Amino acid sequence: MNILKKSLLVATALGVVAIARSDVKNAAASQAEPFPLSQVRLLDSPFKQAMDLDGKYLLSLDPDRLLSWYRKEAGLEPKAPVYGGWESTGLAGHTLGHYLSACSLMYQSTGDTNYLGRVNYIVGELALCQQANGNGYVAAIPHGKDQVFGPIAQGHTDTAGFGLNGGWSPWYTIHKELAGLIDANQLCGNAQALVVATNLANWVDATTANLTDDQWQKMLVCEYGGMNEALANLYGITGNPRYLQLSEKFYDNRVLGPLSAGEDDLTGKHSNTQIPKIIGLARLYELTGDARYEDTAKFFWTQVALHRSFVIGGNGEREGFFPTNNFAKHLTAYTAESCCTYNMLKLTRHLFEWSPDAQEMDFYERGLYNDILASQDPETGMFVYLMSLKPGHFKTFSTPTNAFWCCVGTGMENHSKYGDTIFFHGDQSLFLNLFIPSELTWPEKNLVVRQETQFPESDHTKLDFQCASPVPLALRIRWPEWTDELTVRVNGKKQKISGTPGSYVTVDRQWQNGDTVDVRFQMKLRTEPLPGDSNIVAVLYGPIVLAGELGTERMPVHFADNQTDQNKTWDPAAPLFVGDAHTLLKHIKPTGDPLTFRTHDLGKPGDVTLIPFYKMNDQRYSVYWSVISPAEWQADSTNAQAQATHQMKIALSRD
Ligand SMILES: [Zn+2]
Repeated sequence: MNILKKSLLVATALGVVAIARSDVKNAAASQAEPFPLSQVRLLDSPFKQAMDLDGKYLLSLDPDRLLSWYRKEAGLEPKAPVYGGWESTGLAGHTLGHYLSACSLMYQSTGDTNYLGRVNYIVGELALCQQANGNGYVAAIPHGKDQVFGPIAQGHTDTAGFGLNGGWSPWYTIHKELAGLIDANQLCGNAQALVVATNLANWVDATTANLTDDQWQKMLVCEYGGMNEALANLYGITGNPRYLQLSEKFYDNRVLGPLSAGEDDLTGKHSNTQIPKIIGLARLYELTGDARYEDTAKFFWTQVALHRSFVIGGNGEREGFFPTNNFAKHLTAYTAESCCTYNMLKLTRHLFEWSPDAQEMDFYERGLYNDILASQDPETGMFVYLMSLKPGHFKTFSTPTNAFWCCVGTGMENHSKYGDTIFFHGDQSLFLNLFIPSELTWPEKNLVVRQETQFPESDHTKLDFQCASPVPLALRIRWPEWTDELTVRVNGKKQKISGTPGSYVTVDRQWQNGDTVDVRFQMKLRTEPLPGDSNIVAVLYGPIVLAGELGTERMPVHFADNQTDQNKTWDPAAPLFVGDAHTLLKHIKPTGDPLTFRTHDLGKPGDVTLIPFYKMNDQRYSVYWSVISPAEWQADSTNAQAQATHQMKIALSRD
């Protein structure tokens, strides 16, 4: 019996006659589309290394341990013990959904059938659990009459799972699973995954069928992830309007009401709870063409990406949005949850499809290099949860089998899909968004484009065109906002280009086999102030955020089962920059090593070496620097702050 037949029988036993496939065309127009991941192969670079390391970690995990409580909840004997950390608490089962997505993405990115094998095995196991449950339910969260979903179905939604037998965020966890099943179907062609997903969605529908509007709104106070997005996607795949209606019910009036009216009421709200709601609206806009959803998504993106983000592209502190006039108070060890950046980049891709804008892709590049790439330990492949921006603190990475924070789940996905945004395309255009070594295969054009570059360690990138016959195409090259000068050469000949920093420049021609394009940009040091505070600055080289090496004095191991334990440890006072914010770049010189700089007569109590933040992994660092005048330093040098910073001399012994 083949997989499809078997899965349809399961579906029939559960009362689902057939899974109609009727891909719904987008109602909203798009101007650019991504390529399937399978058409973009990464060439050697830090991104390729991060992907390979992530792949090793994925294959080191035991699917039966991730499935353990799924079987327990279905009344089946677990085949292996559950993993530790958040997997054996109220978020049980969330990792399996991410794992399905990450393995599906990795299969697309590499073609390695080991990942396909993992996906097919897990989907088969989930189908068995679903059959054993008998009502469409399949998850690792308790679902009895008095447990989590039982009371919800009875209208007891005011606690929405909080404290009810250990379900922290029940719909959040169901969302991860639905998203993973949809990825298994869409990226791996697993038909059974769609059956399991639709059965589960039907169970969601039945569980919430009798809720009043008021009960719905009370329930939606609790983090529900991207339930609206997953259900919208199911509608897109099946054409079943029931899923569209259900998707639109996951609409939290309290948060989305003000946003839809152009009001930023986000201060004090949990950040990673809100971003997926907006991604769901973005998908609903694409499927329905409803401009209210488009407007809300654009407004939210502008507020968060441009007004609520740190220099690395991450946002929030202690998982929440804070007042935009007080960033300095929030430079703690609890900043920039990785999931938020994962989700903001996902949202950015939606907006870019609707109307490609270099400002969006500048933000994407910022977050990708300085937060996502920076969030993986290049030794172990493990992940950061809260990316500390507290001067003098350090990164804390997860442990392989006892952490399973939300950001471990999104982390698995982050490093499996670096190929998804390098290029986009229109009917007759190719967008070069990111300068990451890669090879694009575009069968519809009978074209292969290979991008070779050492960027950001070099200041240029080169494209090679391979095609059997000439291809007419407008090549749109991102002119990043961080460079004033951009030159484009085709086959060595300088092109006349029109554009400005923060736009796309176009080379429109018939591309011949063997054509080359060389893009060169001026990279230079620059500073960016902390929003609203010109006396606290970050230093960047081109788009790359630099961090100061501050040694390992009294630093604990840089990994943990619980990151927040590490955040309470003692940190030495960090060095300051003493000088003028306008002229401090004169005091920072390259050392000769790639992307490495040293301050001269600037840092107090000592000068520091600056390296890319994405390479800073096993010592204390500062990304933001307080800048004070020599007079202030003189006056300060007798007070307690100076006494404390004196200790940094030990850490800076390389002076
Ligand atoms: Zn997270």
